[in-house]
Amino acid sequence: MNDRKECDKKLTFDTKKQAKAAAVQAKWERDVDLKIYRCKKCSYWHLATEYKI
Ligand SMILES: [Zn+2]
Repeated sequence: MNDRKECDKKLTFDTKKQAKAAAVQAKWERDVDLKIYRCKKCSYWHLATEYKI
């Protein structure tokens, strides 16, 4: 359950589509490349900077 708490701190998306949209928006707004990935712990989608994954 501690793992789940970690996920709560992150942006969480129900669908890949939503995560993708957020990543595109971040690229526009802040020029950052974010990766979207499906979390094995919570089974939702998160965004991550490449070096953090
Ligand atoms: Zn997660």
